[in-house]
Amino acid sequence: MARVYNFSAGPSMLPLEVLQEAQADLIDYKGSGQSVMEMSHRSKVYNEIIKGAEALFRRVYNVPENYKILFLQGGASTQFAAVPLNLLGKTGKADYVVTGQFASKAYQEAQKYGEIRLVASSKDKTFSYIPELTRADFDPEADYAYVCFNNTIFGTKFPYIPDTGDVPLVADISSCMISEPLDISKFGVVYGGAQKNVAPAGLTVVIVREDLLGGARADTPVMLNWKEQADGESMYNTPPCWSIYICKLVLEWIERLGGLEVLAEQNRKKAQVLYDFLDSSKLFSNPVRKEDRSIMNVTFVAATDELNDKFVKEAAAAGFVNLKGHRSVGGMRASIYNAMPPEGVDALVAFMRDFESANA
Ligand SMILES: *Cc1c(COP(=O)(O)O)cnc(C)c1O
Repeated sequence: MARVYNFSAGPSMLPLEVLQEAQADLIDYKGSGQSVMEMSHRSKVYNEIIKGAEALFRRVYNVPENYKILFLQGGASTQFAAVPLNLLGKTGKADYVVTGQFASKAYQEAQKYGEIRLVASSKDKTFSYIPELTRADFDPEADYAYVCFNNTIFGTKFPYIPDTGDVPLVADISSCMISEPLDISKFGVVYGGAQKNVAPAGLTVVIVREDLLGGARADTPVMLNWKEQADGESMYNTPPCWSIYICKLVLEWIERLGGLEVLAEQNRKKAQVLYDFLDSSKLFSNPVRKEDRSIMNVTFVAATDELNDKFVKEAAAAGFVNLKGHRSVGGMRASIYNAMPPEGVDALVAFMRDFESANA
């Protein structure tokens, strides 16, 4: 079996151990005589899976007791509408920080539902940095303030949690969820699509502070209503059963590694190896302001477009796949989520070094 090193931004690599475990239980899950894909979501055996996944999520990510963890469908993009629908109940005003394409999409979607203000944007420098914001930048009247914490396409991450005073902070954490510890108590809501770090596509995790439930607009579709979903324990309708099951296996894998601190240290080291190489390279470079660099998505360019194309092609032939940058920015991007082993990054750097020598 030849597995490649897959640097896809999402869906992305899953830990091999998790795939093997799922494979072993694929046809007959733990003596139930059924696959997890086939069983009723209301069965006792599945109830243990979803409740187990939720409890593990809370433990691994240190989610405070006064937050609900919802396992939903529709991807992070559905939450671009769910956030304003659930939260714009008081003043109808919200503050948005636009640090990339997904933040921009969320900002545009929210405009359908209220008075949405642009607090800051880093578009002036092609989203290569995170603006510095203080409490004074935010409207104390806003129903919420919104950020995208890790910008998957541009390879930036907030190096700090913005202080919004009493205004609940909402963050899209799709591409950094359970990659390192996060102080969730500083947020009103965090959410993300699971297909980057947590599970296969199909699962969207929403973590919401309980006091923010129940204020949704009257015309909120029931499927987008967090209160309804929380009351139904993520089973208002059929949940994404299989993805939740894999999420549970991934969380168990993290605990076997030694927990989130250990994983985070490994993630930081992986990123450091790549950034150190990029900073010393004569051919490749990273465009992001140093303090704002993502440890999950590392963007880089070679000296010319021709060399970028050549690199992506030769890398793929050598077993390093999905290194092409997002279609809107070009260049390259290595997404090095939780499941990318340190050896994968070391091997990539060795390959880049050789490419550099050959093309100097
Ligand atoms: C991938 C991604 C999205 C879009 O996720 P979908 O689940 O495909 O809707 C949104 N925000 C961020 C930060 C992402 O990385």
